[in-house]
Amino acid sequence: MALKITALCTGWAYGLQRPAITYLRGWGEKIDIPLIMYVIEGGENGPIIVDTGADADRAEEHHRLRVTSTAIQRPDEAVRSLSIKPEDVKTVINTHLHWDHSSHNHLFPNAEVLVQQRELDFARAPVVWHRRPFEVVEGIDPAWQRGESQIRPVDGDTDVAPGIRLVTLPGHTPGSQGVLVDAESKRYLIAGDCTYLYENWEGDAEADHIPAGMYTDLISYEESFKKIEALDCEVIPSHDPQVIERRVFA
Ligand SMILES: [Zn+2]
Repeated sequence: MALKITALCTGWAYGLQRPAITYLRGWGEKIDIPLIMYVIEGGENGPIIVDTGADADRAEEHHRLRVTSTAIQRPDEAVRSLSIKPEDVKTVINTHLHWDHSSHNHLFPNAEVLVQQRELDFARAPVVWHRRPFEVVEGIDPAWQRGESQIRPVDGDTDVAPGIRLVTLPGHTPGSQGVLVDAESKRYLIAGDCTYLYENWEGDAEADHIPAGMYTDLISYEESFKKIEALDCEVIPSHDPQVIERRVFA
C-alpha cells in the first residue's frame, strides 16, 4: 500500500507574535496557529504518528498563551477518526521536544517514541530562553517525560521503515528533525518547526527561506534549509492553517 500523510488538528494557539514565527518580520502582527499531528499510513509497521500536540491545561499559566483543544482533538481521540486505535500505534516521532509537539506521547502506550539524542540532551538542560517551551519551569515536570520510558533515542539521519526516513534539521532546536515520506505521487518532508508556515519555506524578496523567530543556531538553520533544498521534496510546515485545510498528502 502506498504511503499517505493525514494532518489532524489537535488544537489551536491564539495571538502569537508574528516575529516569533517569521524571523524579524511582521512587527505588531499577531497570528493564530493550529497544533498539527501527522499520521503516516500504509507503512509496513502500521500507522506512524508525528508529533502529539500541546497540553492546553498548561498553556495560560506556564506558557502565557491561549490554547484550545477539544475532547475529539486530543491525539488519542483524533486518530480514531482514521479508524486507528491508539494502542495499535507502534511508532511515534517527535520532530522536537517543545511542549506543543510532544505532550501526548503517553497516550500511545505501546509505541516507541523516536527522538534525536541531541534533542533529549538539550531538553533536559536547555538554554534559559528555551526553558519555557521545554517546560523546564517551576511547578511542573515536562509533559514529554510522561512518555519518557517509551523513548528510543536516535542519532542522525535514520530509516524508520521503507519510504520513511528521519533527517536532522538543527536550528530551531539542536535536535530538530524532519520526516521524509515517499508517498504515492511525490516525496514530502514533515519539517517540524524548521518551517512553521509555508511562508518560512517560500521566503520573501530578501531571503529564499525565513527561519523561525525562536532558534538555537541560525548557522545550522541555514544549513538545514540547504539540506531540504537537496532533498527534492514538498515541504509540509508545522503550524500552517492551509495544512489543516488540505488534510491529505498522498
Ligand atoms: Zn518548536
